Amino acid sequence: MGLKPSRVVAHTGELRALTGDDDGAQRVAWTETWARARGWLAELLADLPLEVERDQAGNDWYTLRGESERAVLLGGHMDSVPNGGWLDGCLNVLAAAEVLRRIAEDGTPPVTVRLVDWADEEGARFGRSLFGSSAAGGSMADQDELRRLTDRDGVSLPDAIDAFDVDLDRALDARSQLDGAAAYLELHIEQGPVLESLDLPLGVVLGTFGVERSRFTWTGQAAHAGSTPMDQRRDALAGAAKLALAIRDIARETGDGAVCTSGNVTCRPGIVTSVVETAEQLLDQRHLDAGRLAAMLGRAQELARGFAKEERIEVEWERLWSIEPILFDETLIDFADEAITEVAGTSHRLPSGPLHDAAEVARAGVPTVMLFVQSLRGLSHTKLEDTKPEHLELSVAALDRLTTKAIANVAG
Ligand SMILES: [Zn+2]
Repeated sequence: MGLKPSRVVAHTGELRALTGDDDGAQRVAWTETWARARGWLAELLADLPLEVERDQAGNDWYTLRGESERAVLLGGHMDSVPNGGWLDGCLNVLAAAEVLRRIAEDGTPPVTVRLVDWADEEGARFGRSLFGSSAAGGSMADQDELRRLTDRDGVSLPDAIDAFDVDLDRALDARSQLDGAAAYLELHIEQGPVLESLDLPLGVVLGTFGVERSRFTWTGQAAHAGSTPMDQRRDALAGAAKLALAIRDIARETGDGAVCTSGNVTCRPGIVTSVVETAEQLLDQRHLDAGRLAAMLGRAQELARGFAKEERIEVEWERLWSIEPILFDETLIDFADEAITEVAGTSHRLPSGPLHDAAEVARAGVPTVMLFVQSLRGLSHTKLEDTKPEHLELSVAALDRLTTKAIANVAG
């Protein structure tokens, strides 16, 4: 009896055998393989005294009733990208299942404890991530766009989710699931190289980055590649190239995890015999602090203006998409720090670059925290994704300690 972290490692391996192939995990949401994974999870938990329910957004809830209605939630997602890794999302669920088992065996807990398997975190099939958690969190506002989405085979999103009894018009009714939620805890693989570079198994996540996505359009003059002297060119690509390098300095000077990426530059006319007339450059900037994120964008715009002048070209920009940073709960961050220190000796605090279901729950006002466990080589969304078994076991132990602290805190 008691917590058995090694069981979680065995279960993730079992799930891999059941729902993966030579190319990796194939648990894409709203597919048969995903349904098989979820059915397997239900069987895994079948011997525990849980209430089982699928909500209006397709999220699966396993509830262990406590003495109080107030609830501590443990979350993750069984879905994966195609050819995905064996741990992303399902480690969270399976670790939470083990913690739930341990709590159930200890008797009725002072507060209710719930495991949620979020529907379609990855958005791999229709390009819309965080489906179930954004419905439950209440931020889903793009039903009209969702209605028009189709997958590669032309199947519409409404038809695909209908097969799972999910109706877009009712998805937001899942919001009632967060009634009484007093804490949300999620363990996840880091999916980046930071913890490995520090030689630490575990870290506490402070929140998820705010993101600013812009398109910079540089305009010069198309001119013959043979007849136009170098000093008489108005080369749009030169501006984009200078900015692509300058964003490294912007990120470095901003610090605290700041990242800037020039993900694409599309050139016109785009032929080898012409100076570039227009260059459309995509810029993605991320930071945990809203003010510093805004300053990073302002700095990129200021530098772009200067480069345009130097190159005698024009530049304009537009915002494509943005999201505010989402900060996790300070009390839970402290508990997570303690839990990690207890099981691993040293803790570390870090921001999350990727968005997670936890961000949607935090946005909805539920105190939230995440634990990251080291990813080998920082790889994820590939079959090469991996974490040492001993680190997986530590992560389960840390989630268990964190859950105990959160329950005690909520119980008051
Ligand atoms: Zn994930």
